[in-house]
Amino acid sequence: MADKPTPMMQQYLALKREAGDALLFYRMGDFFELFFEDAKIASQVLDIALTTRGEHGGEPVPMCGVPVHSAEGYLARLIKGGCRVAIAEQTETPDEAKERAKREGKPVSKALVARDIVRLVTAGTLTEEALLEPRRANLLVAIAPVRDGIGIAACDISTGRMELEDCAPDRIDAALARLGASEIVAPEDWDEAAEGIIARPRHNFRSEDGEARLKNIHGLATLDGLGDFSRPMLAAAAGLVAYLDHAGRGKLPFLLPPVARGSDAHLAMDAATRSSLEILAAQNGGREGSLIACLDRCATGAGARQLAEDLSAPLADLGTVEARLASVQHFHADPLLRADLRAVLRQAPDIGRALGRLVAGRGSPRDLGQIRDGLAEARRVRDMLGASADLPPLLSGMIDALGGHAALVDHLARALVPSPPTERSQGGFIASGYDHALDALRETSGNARKAIAALEAKYREETDTASLKIKHNKVLGYFIEVPAKHGDKLMAQDSGFTHRQTMAGAVRFNSVGLHEEASRIAEAGAHALAAEEAHFEELVGEVFAAREAIAATAAALARIDVCAALAERAVEGNWSRPEMLDEPCLEIIGGRHPVVEQALAKTGERFVANDCTLGPDDRLWLIGGPNMGGKSTFLRQNALIILLAQAGSFVPATSARIGLADRLFSRVGASDNLARGRSTFMVEMVETAAILSQATDRSFVILDEVGRGTSTYDGMALAWAVVEAVHEQLACRCLFATHYHELSRLAETCDALSLHHVRAREWKGDLVLLHELAKGAADRSYGLSVAKLAGLPKPVIKRAKAVLDKLEKGREQTGGLAAGLGDLPLFAVTAQAEEEQCDALRDAIEALDVDALSPREALEELYRLKAEAAKSAN
Ligand code: ADP
Repeated sequence: MADKPTPMMQQYLALKREAGDALLFYRMGDFFELFFEDAKIASQVLDIALTTRGEHGGEPVPMCGVPVHSAEGYLARLIKGGCRVAIAEQTETPDEAKERAKREGKPVSKALVARDIVRLVTAGTLTEEALLEPRRANLLVAIAPVRDGIGIAACDISTGRMELEDCAPDRIDAALARLGASEIVAPEDWDEAAEGIIARPRHNFRSEDGEARLKNIHGLATLDGLGDFSRPMLAAAAGLVAYLDHAGRGKLPFLLPPVARGSDAHLAMDAATRSSLEILAAQNGGREGSLIACLDRCATGAGARQLAEDLSAPLADLGTVEARLASVQHFHADPLLRADLRAVLRQAPDIGRALGRLVAGRGSPRDLGQIRDGLAEARRVRDMLGASADLPPLLSGMIDALGGHAALVDHLARALVPSPPTERSQGGFIASGYDHALDALRETSGNARKAIAALEAKYREETDTASLKIKHNKVLGYFIEVPAKHGDKLMAQDSGFTHRQTMAGAVRFNSVGLHEEASRIAEAGAHALAAEEAHFEELVGEVFAAREAIAATAAALARIDVCAALAERAVEGNWSRPEMLDEPCLEIIGGRHPVVEQALAKTGERFVANDCTLGPDDRLWLIGGPNMGGKSTFLRQNALIILLAQAGSFVPATSARIGLADRLFSRVGASDNLARGRSTFMVEMVETAAILSQATDRSFVILDEVGRGTSTYDGMALAWAVVEAVHEQLACRCLFATHYHELSRLAETCDALSLHHVRAREWKGDLVLLHELAKGAADRSYGLSVAKLAGLPKPVIKRAKAVLDKLEKGREQTGGLAAGLGDLPLFAVTAQAEEEQCDALRDAIEALDVDALSPREALEELYRLKAEAAKSAN
């Protein structure tokens, strides 16, 4: 590439400008090439070789490339690596480019193939099976902060689901945490945008446009029939559709009619709570060790996605929770139905995603086959449910959605071969007997193939060459090949063979007969392909027409799968159906932590079940006891039980009466929770502040060692104040774990607070942790025993014991920390001041160079120090 950019470079640069910050995949023959910075990024992320090609501006141009046929795998890795990719395809063949050049009077030899960006591949706009995780939804979210609030539009284009909601500005983090989107877009002028949010022009987020687009997409005169959509919701919808337009280059993916999500419909949880409860991912980011991993028994990917959504957004409405619980109960009570149903579901393909691909124009014959098989399985599910007596309303309401596709299933079954291929350009997916013309074409090529086989035998005989073969390759088509030593025979003028190619050990020929048969095959093949293509389009059209009904079937299957899977899990773990109430109470008998219980079971250990009973008169439990005693586990198990129940699941307890919660908060003291960027204590306090400003008397709060992230006095004082505030102002149900014994004095002033501890016993000098909750304050902390249990060296333990004895003796003399808590701050200040003065005196003495002093100077120094000491004594 010389100083003046070549035409190709000019074309590249123009496309790159269009692609913006997305990497540009520039199609060149069988490769997608990347240049400049794009090449550097891609070679790093993909770990492929970086080379150079030509020059631009006097510098070599960095380049790397990936083969088109395996591009999907590379795309997946780039998307995972946080990149977006614009795909620039050749939009004409080299021959067409030459024709065009001729027409335009330009030199034909330099004709440049036209290219255009056909698609932007981004994390939130994927539909390809290979790029999606089967058990996780893939959400694209648009945020529209407008004058009267923030609108959020969320959609999973792999299945077409779309939801719109309103959000208060201070809840946006919690909402985004709940959604867990793969990609988020927002107007470029939004100040609050976190890193990674994609900025889009403000004019894309106009509510009028949102309304118009939605009406247009769904062919409606008004959106009133779909729900109540606010202006911010519609503005967000506008932003979302505009981005989809942009990514699909004007081709919209499958979108179902939007559903309005009420902001109070769900149990609200913020990001810190979600992460501390390890709902969809454990602290290390993986699925293992999370609640969902321990719960998920779904037979299908769609069921697993639905379950993840249910756990991310548990319900806050008694009626809908009960409806789900009744369905789980139905499958719980009927093991045969459950087993049969799950066996059928396991066979069912992911029709939601197959539909998404077909409607987006990226579908394959295999997707049609999946729709056929999935709908047929849905019918079987319908028959099974239909035969089951006393179906609860949620399940009986789905019967219709599961059937009703008989004509389509029948058509697909007649039209398609049993397992259609993913590649449609090769044909071979339309069943024989479906189209007589197609059958005839296939017969023609079949006959011609037979004729070619016969020709081979005939030529062998005629030329007396047993090693003569008729072969086929992409470049030459059909040809006759003989080993070089027999070549001369066929070269003869009157042999009837024409020479085509001489290879190292072989010579290749054509013949009139072969040419004729080969032409018949090619012609019939081309016609057959065209016929199959037309059938494909027609079948896709039929699926497209039924898209909403198919999506409803997919949703019904997913919901049934979730209910049956939850029943399966409940049976497996001996869980029980919670009784749900509309009052702020909690009565868990024999509660367990599902994840810890499962982990212990693997090592043959038994989980100790514990009760928890909270009500208006006793709503705050202060829980003490030794480290490792089971405090955190107890706190979390109760939060998880509430979460599970409101998601519609049975719970790991002997029995449970649960008052519906509106918000769930979980906080863990800083030292367990290493956050990046901010000081951990700061994070702890920011998160605690959020609870104090947001919790209501219907909320459930667990606070685990809050205050631990700072010095003892500060920490204790803060913990004290937080407990008081939770008790007095919020009046919510709360479990508070702490190792500060001193807090137990709060029981004297707080009526609805009671003291509890995890039990431990010392046995033959060793500590035994019983993991059992008991009433009353913990008697001591057992810190040293825990340290011993943890294997701290004996001399260190011994030394610590001596220090502890001293401290305790000192405490007896001063009346103890707790005794002085009335004037705790003063105490803390004097203690610190004393320490400082002592240190000043010591420093002064240390600084003295006694040998360098005259007797008189020494005496003066002594007077000075004495005066100093007298000052600090006052
Ligand atoms: P703490 O918060 O008091 O330091 P944890 O709740 O972290 O203690 O529990 C420490 C360990 O004790 C857990 O990892 C688990 O292995 C075990 N454990 C906790 N609760 C129970 C229980 N109820 N039954 C059996 N083992 C338990």
